[in-house]
Amino acid sequence: MKVFKFGGASIKNAQAIRNMCEIVSNHKEAKLLVVVSAMGKSTNNLELLLEERTNETASDKNLANLLEFHVSICEDLFPTDHDIFNYLKNQISELKVALQSPADYNEIYDQVVSKGELISSNIITAYLNHCGTSSLWVDAREYVRTDNNFREGHVDWKLTEELIRHDIESLALSNVLVTQGFIGRAQNGLTTTLGREGSDFSAAIFASCLSAESVTVWKDVPGILNGDPKLVKDAILFDELPYQEAAEMTYYGATVIHPKTIKPLANKGIPLHVKSFDHPSEPGTLIHDCKLKENQPPTIIIKNDQCLISFKVIDFTFVNEDNLSLIFKTLSDNNIKINIMQNSAISFSIVIDNDTSKIQKLVLSLKDHFDIRYNNGLQLITLKNYQQETLDSYRNNEKILLEQISRKNYRALINP
Ligand code: ASP
Ligand code: MG
Repeated sequence: MKVFKFGGASIKNAQAIRNMCEIVSNHKEAKLLVVVSAMGKSTNNLELLLEERTNETASDKNLANLLEFHVSICEDLFPTDHDIFNYLKNQISELKVALQSPADYNEIYDQVVSKGELISSNIITAYLNHCGTSSLWVDAREYVRTDNNFREGHVDWKLTEELIRHDIESLALSNVLVTQGFIGRAQNGLTTTLGREGSDFSAAIFASCLSAESVTVWKDVPGILNGDPKLVKDAILFDELPYQEAAEMTYYGATVIHPKTIKPLANKGIPLHVKSFDHPSEPGTLIHDCKLKENQPPTIIIKNDQCLISFKVIDFTFVNEDNLSLIFKTLSDNNIKINIMQNSAISFSIVIDNDTSKIQKLVLSLKDHFDIRYNNGLQLITLKNYQQETLDSYRNNEKILLEQISRKNYRALINP
């Protein structure tokens, strides 16, 4: 079995969908499972509907826009009497009902936002069949099982593997299978999501449970580059990378692959190709079991919208294990991930992704124990496997607030 994953950009309009379906058709001889994200920016637009709901400014306008976005793509792809148009109307009616639910916000979030993937996968399946590539729509929720943790469901690997192994491979004998990334089903039967941008992870879940031959993630970049081409001049394409190196890159903030994707594949030795959907015959980057090249160019990873928080002890003691453990416990309870940390005698500093509501909770929990200061809008730069020349060019910057250097990596927090 092979697993392909297509993200929002690869199916953002009718032309992109034609291109995507051509790539799939060219591989239909292999047993193939295709995992798709929501089209274009649909997930953000669904989040907007939820925001309106909490602000009580809910209007039908954005709902109508979402319908119109999908309808206009389908008008380009299908004859006017195709069933897909009724399907779309029904989905939007269901969305309207879901938005009015009195349930807990996170629960509603997942019921609403998952519609993006449900709709896109239905359109893609219908279009593949329309073009003569026999395809079957697979409901990912029947297979990817999670706990009841909405918005970041934790996968029940044992059950998921059992369900996937039971029928996916045989279904793939006569059809290309099309399923949704990003979504699963909770123990209570409701839809869960796996965290924003989680479709890569879904592809890895299916691949791992199937012991697939390979996974290919089709992107709008030629593969994995040593820096975001929008931010780094003359970015270099890696032809191959070891799993460990790719996983570390995602830890430091490289967004090309979702951070949870590599581990399940590495555990089973499943190769991961990252390829361009615009140039499908180019080799892209292969992440697999190999050695890091000796002359590997440095990777430059830039994480924006960072928040530096400092906890200063207030009782003339020093930073010690007791007050650190209190800070770590509170971070863990609030699901906050530290991107970098540093301490002095009387102050402990962390850098985290800016998330106002999480920061407020953190400050509220710890304000009686520390003098807390924070500073937003910062940029965290990581130079992985740096060379002297790149290092010198980045260190010469008076806007650095904090820096750390080891033999391999250099990291700096900058007030841009
Ligand atoms: N559609 C979801 C998102 O935008 C999942 C994904 O794209 O991977 O976050
Ligand atoms: Mg996406």
